[in-house]
Amino acid sequence: MTSAPISTAARMLPLRLPKVCVALAADNPSDMVSKAEALVRDNPLLEFRLDYIPQPASALPKIKRFLETHPSAVLIGTCRRAVNGGKFRGSVASQLEILSKAASAGCQLVDFELQSAEDAKRGTVERLRSKAAVILSYHDFRSTKKLDDVLQRMLPYGADFLKIVTTATSLSDNVTLMKFLERTSDKHSMVGLCMGEQGIISRVLGIRAGSVFTFASVSPGEETAPGQVTARELRDIYRVDHVDAATRVYGVAGDPVSHSLSPLIMNAAFRRENVNGVYLALHAKSLDDLLACVRDIPIHGLSVTMPFKQSILKHLDNTDAHTAKMGACNTVVRAQDGKLYGFNTDTAGVVRPLEQRITIEGAKILVIGAGGAARAAVFGLKERGAEVYIMNRTPAPAQSLARSARARYVRRPDLRKHKFDVIINATPVGMGNSKESPLKPEELECKVLFEMIYSPVETKLVATARAKGIQIIPGLEMFVHQAARQFEIWTGKPAPLEEMHRILTTAAQASPRKTVQLDL
Ligand code: NAP
Repeated sequence: MTSAPISTAARMLPLRLPKVCVALAADNPSDMVSKAEALVRDNPLLEFRLDYIPQPASALPKIKRFLETHPSAVLIGTCRRAVNGGKFRGSVASQLEILSKAASAGCQLVDFELQSAEDAKRGTVERLRSKAAVILSYHDFRSTKKLDDVLQRMLPYGADFLKIVTTATSLSDNVTLMKFLERTSDKHSMVGLCMGEQGIISRVLGIRAGSVFTFASVSPGEETAPGQVTARELRDIYRVDHVDAATRVYGVAGDPVSHSLSPLIMNAAFRRENVNGVYLALHAKSLDDLLACVRDIPIHGLSVTMPFKQSILKHLDNTDAHTAKMGACNTVVRAQDGKLYGFNTDTAGVVRPLEQRITIEGAKILVIGAGGAARAAVFGLKERGAEVYIMNRTPAPAQSLARSARARYVRRPDLRKHKFDVIINATPVGMGNSKESPLKPEELECKVLFEMIYSPVETKLVATARAKGIQIIPGLEMFVHQAARQFEIWTGKPAPLEEMHRILTTAAQASPRKTVQLDL
């Protein structure tokens, strides 16, 4: 098999292609073209997934008309066979016929699977290339491996673009794919990414690694591949058009993190403050996997969440005294020398909103709960000179926390003997659809109520406090302040607090309650 001479137009094509290709799927030609009409202004590179249409050829006249009215659009015609992960049940010969007609209708590129090429007659790819640029594609729906073997199978066909899409089952699979792109993209026009929730790194950073473009979906629910994000998210949140060699990579690492709102507010903060950074949700199933990525990508900063807040500590080169005392780290920064430093900004999430309202020194503060969030509050407030009391459903952890922080333990029946300046709810009581409250109305005697729960915003405890005229600090404010402190540690700049708060509040109100996740 020899490759046909490459025309100048084909050689120039990778240079003038937009970086994001939106994959269009619909079960009839009219809907598909309507979607294209709605998208083409902002997204001139569109993939028509003809295999989603029961009679794929029926879409071609509409595609032709679409191109006549949108001459600057660049279209990829794809008719993926079911055996290769698509929906087309016809033979390779009929697939070729459709792709050839798609090229005649004006599609400048057609996607042809490697497996189809291997089944087809000699010279098939060359013939197809005489009509349109050919993307020779390979999809692995299970893993990321043997990339060089796949490349060797592809090379003899002399296609214009070599597309290798795999599945990330770990964060490190993204590194494997991106290193492969870095090695191969100076010789070939590569398109590569990892599918799956863990593939987000390669979807955002793949272009920097050498992928000519990447794929995006039209809207949530219209994905043509697992883990695909929308074109709007890629552009507006992750700013893929601006990711370059100098862009620093940050992320929230945990399990789970898929519904995290952190990428939304952190990327907005980077944009607002002109920080050349991008922030990703890193679904890490193991600490080893996460740490390998921090080293290899490299990642410059992490928000650390469940279940790694304690276990990451022994892998850090240093932590500040406060974090060491707390025994939990929620923020990692990678210094210029590659060393990892740990901090805990949960405390800032409690202290900063409070100090905007009261003088913490000498204030009498009740913390309900003795878990991680309570711990951050108790240590932070003690350091600021508050008189801290702890109450908890189970006495032992509260007594132990009181001892280690030099705070006081209080039993619930004794609450009425006290008048507090502030009461902090650091339990999940009242979260979600629960109508419970950790305190009875007559037990809620204070000037300020700090409700750590953020969903719903109006818990039963908050409603009771409001009715009693008590000032309220909502859970979202805590989250924004701890995130703002992370931003400051990473960038050395003041965080755009108001912007972060506005974006978070809007997103939290817009998201269905169950899918909102903050990284605590
Ligand atoms: P955690 O480590 O699991 O601790 C939970 C605490 O709540 C424990 O002291 C537990 O008492 C108590 N508790 C649990 N269920 C209870 C119940 N039904 N009745 C009475 N007490 C109960 O959790 P965490 O990480 O500290 O988080 C606590 C809350 O704070 C959560 O709602 C979380 O969403 C919120 N939070 C918010 C932010 C923010 O940014 N807004 C940040 C961190 C946490 P036992 O010892 O008796 O089990």
